[in-house]
Amino acid sequence: MAKETREFQAETKQLLDLMINSIYTNKEIFLRELISNASDAIDKVHFEGLTNHDILEGDEDFEIFLVPDKESHTLTISDNGIGMTRDEVIENIGTIAKSGTKAFLEQLKQAKESNSDITDKELIGQFGVGFYSAFMVAEKVTIVTRKAGEKEAVRWESNGDGSYSIEECEKEKRGTSVIITLKKDFYGDSADADFTENYRLQSLVKKYSDYVRYPIKMNFEIEETPKDEEGKPIEGAEKIKRTEVRTLNSMQPLWTKNKSDLKDEDYNEFFKNQFHEWENPMEVFHTKAEGNVEYTSLLCIPAHAPFNLYHTDYEPGLQLYSRHVFIMDKCKDLLPDYLRFMKGLVDSPDLSLNISRELLQQSKELKDIGRALEKNILKTLERNMKNKREDYEKFWNEYGKSLKIGVYNSMYSGSDTIDKLKNLLLFLTSKEGKLVSLKEYVERMPESQKKIYYATAKDKETIENLPQMELLREKGIEVLYLLDPVDEFCIETIREYEGKQFHSISRGDLDLDDAESQEVKKETEELAKSNDDLMKDIKETLGDKVSEVKLSNRLKSSAVCLVADEQGPSLSMEQTFAEMDNPMFKAKRILEINPKHELFGRLQSLHAANKEGQDFKDYCDLLYTQALIIEGILPENPVEFANKVAKLMAK
Ligand code: ADP
Repeated sequence: MAKETREFQAETKQLLDLMINSIYTNKEIFLRELISNASDAIDKVHFEGLTNHDILEGDEDFEIFLVPDKESHTLTISDNGIGMTRDEVIENIGTIAKSGTKAFLEQLKQAKESNSDITDKELIGQFGVGFYSAFMVAEKVTIVTRKAGEKEAVRWESNGDGSYSIEECEKEKRGTSVIITLKKDFYGDSADADFTENYRLQSLVKKYSDYVRYPIKMNFEIEETPKDEEGKPIEGAEKIKRTEVRTLNSMQPLWTKNKSDLKDEDYNEFFKNQFHEWENPMEVFHTKAEGNVEYTSLLCIPAHAPFNLYHTDYEPGLQLYSRHVFIMDKCKDLLPDYLRFMKGLVDSPDLSLNISRELLQQSKELKDIGRALEKNILKTLERNMKNKREDYEKFWNEYGKSLKIGVYNSMYSGSDTIDKLKNLLLFLTSKEGKLVSLKEYVERMPESQKKIYYATAKDKETIENLPQMELLREKGIEVLYLLDPVDEFCIETIREYEGKQFHSISRGDLDLDDAESQEVKKETEELAKSNDDLMKDIKETLGDKVSEVKLSNRLKSSAVCLVADEQGPSLSMEQTFAEMDNPMFKAKRILEINPKHELFGRLQSLHAANKEGQDFKDYCDLLYTQALIIEGILPENPVEFANKVAKLMAK
């Protein structure tokens, strides 16, 4: 096929721009990223080779080679890994196949424009732009690659300016060479960082890629004085030059080392290298277990949740090794889905290399390991919540949603998930404005309070302005703020905590037990009896819009509010379902009218004067629409609403 020039996908272009113009100072990490890609590619061919030996073409000396060239100011990173076909190059290098990329880039642009304190590193970290990091130092990047088992090789080239060329070529060895033509800041004596300098490269490999499982090699030109038979240098002899191949990394898998011999930096570098992380993890778990199943695991909670954590194309899972041989990359079945953000690996001699990945994922050994890991992670989280609250809150802000979805999904995974997770949940509440656990909430409940109250809305301010909040605030009752649509589903799945039921302040009766509330309740019931006709006629006027109209004992200064009945979805759940294009779930709307409000008297007199009259009907309608607006729901017919208000104002 002839040489062809193609455009990068629009999102890739944007990302490239971001990389090239990045103010990210630590540009040297491009080397770590490319080495890590090379090592992944060798893992793949290594594993394939276990069952399909021919694919190795007789070359089993897996290695990564660095070739700096001062003359052409290039740096080449070569591997004899799996390589790529033409289609794979186009697919992997030219496009970003992650859903939500567009939205992410948009968010990124906004974050930058608003000058928020998110750093480039954090943003890039959420995305993981491994290969593209080469463009931070490259004027041009060339890839020459041949897929293992294929004859044709491919040459890809780009200046990072929006397009790339691709053509067929020859390549003797399988695998990939990435040739970076360096920008002038990155070579030569006057450069800040010279990436054609052997010793610099050597120290970068030591720093970032020491634990890569395959040798990273480089040629060193050595000048030395010849030696005599006894190995002593011959005096006065002319120096001879020779080339020595040196392996730059120690290659000992980090997880096989003793914990006591490892420092935080060791772990940090390891995770960046092995899992394409850009920042130090927030928590590391290194366990060795001997017992029924023997294994070593090295896991971490990354500093930030990837932007696509909840998209369907996010692939959770841990790496699996058996006696340090890589078996698979994303083993999903080790950890429950609510720990989908965990990264890391498990190495166990008890895992068989000879069975299919599908069978392996269902093996008893793997299940046992998974259960032990889960237990350990949850224990640590609980401990952090108690002893390192600030760290835990950071964790919660990144990954809390995952646990809440986990609780909700316990409908499928089993109710023990609720018991495992309920003590890890945090919510903002009407007290103090900080995150509170359910335990903390219950511990400070006054004795007369029988239920755990919660309110739902998109933000704190909306909740604080809800008419239903007024009474609870006055009584000093703490209310949980559920600000994410998943929160209410989560809470409703838990149903109760330490024998206390959850109760939405926008649902059913408030069930307040104190003497004053009981008194008000009685009064309202009395009033309701004498206003029965009025309530019926309002209901009739509103028709199907509401299922019931009644007098309220929860309102103070507001005239009306809308609540849902005890069973069935709440109003905010209804909104969530509607946003998901699932309008089947409708809340049963109950319109509550405040008998203490002056409007109530007006309503009574309008009704007494002419219950068939337009004025009474307009009032009913306006009251209902007001209640909707308070709940953040737009009236079905805003123009009609505005006209009615205008008419009333003109009177
Ligand atoms: P990531 O490594 O996070 O998937 P990259 O942008 O670094 O993202 O790489 C994109 C894809 O390109 C990789 O997933 C891999 O399939 C392919 N790739 C990159 N480098 C190599 C290589 N040296 N050998 C084979 N495939 C590679």
